[in-house]
Amino acid sequence: MSARILDGKAVAAKVRAEVARETQRFVEQRGRPPGLAVVRVGNDPASQIYVRGKIKACQEVGFHSEEHHLPEDAVTAEVVAVVRRLNEDPEIDGILVQLPLPRQVDEQAVLDAIAPEKDVDGFHLVNAGKLLTGRRGGIRACTPLGIMRLLEEGGCDPRGKKAVVIGRSNIVGKPLALLLLEADATVTICHSKTPDLAAEVRQADIVVAAVGRPKLVQGDWIKEGAFVVDVGINRLPDGKLVGDVDFEAAKERAGAITPVPGGVGPMTIAMLLANTLQAASAR
Ligand code: NDP
Repeated sequence: MSARILDGKAVAAKVRAEVARETQRFVEQRGRPPGLAVVRVGNDPASQIYVRGKIKACQEVGFHSEEHHLPEDAVTAEVVAVVRRLNEDPEIDGILVQLPLPRQVDEQAVLDAIAPEKDVDGFHLVNAGKLLTGRRGGIRACTPLGIMRLLEEGGCDPRGKKAVVIGRSNIVGKPLALLLLEADATVTICHSKTPDLAAEVRQADIVVAAVGRPKLVQGDWIKEGAFVVDVGINRLPDGKLVGDVDFEAAKERAGAITPVPGGVGPMTIAMLLANTLQAASAR
């Protein structure tokens, strides 16, 4: 039987509509819109496209948004100075530093400089620590948060399920594993040193692949009826965009599966908007 497709575009549109409605209320109450500042350093073409997409998404829900662009040869102190200025700016509720930064810039120092209450990417140590310790009020990383919402909308309650997360990065794998744990799943985190990835995946009711390798997860590894979330974004030599899961084979066994593109990707920007509104409301 062919799996249900978890349509990230549709769920993201729903989240954006919710944010747009809440934004109207926010403006009525506070007399100003929520504000997001995006800091971009250098001339990376992909970053330019991503930032444009984020600014456009802000405009569509009624946010104030601004881009701060620094030259390719900017040094850490200059980027940190921009972040500090935005920390003090009363019109700005969320600050996002577009990664990657040029090599000479100390990425950690820049991320650490963001005021935790304006850290809408959820990468600051304070927000990561709040997630780890289960404290309320922290800002959660956008991609993991978007995945949790996709599961919820797809009718998957993680409680009591066995979840396998492939990838242990600080922006996807680790925070997602913590969110699944918080939702009462039994979580296994796999990585490049996991000896038998297939055996781990075969037991999983929920599989999340966040690696960056086309067809790493093969169709016959998928347990019948499992929820499969593909975070990977890989461009093949022919220009086609694919995830980490062999989609065509996996969808014959999975109960539900996210496509690439159109699965997790659209959720990330939608949750950035939700996080910015949350940050604005909390201030
Ligand atoms: P990283 O490169 O930071 O992490 C990749 C992880 O995959 C590492 O933990 C690595 O293990 C693990 N890994 C590598 N090879 C294997 C293997 N053969 N078997 C098992 N695990 C392996 O990537 P990110 O977390 O930043 O991103 C992952 C993917 O998700 C990328 O394709 C990225 O483009 C995409 N992405 C998509 C987003 C979206 O909005 N859709 C948002 C963010 C990322 P180890 O730690 O041992 O090296």
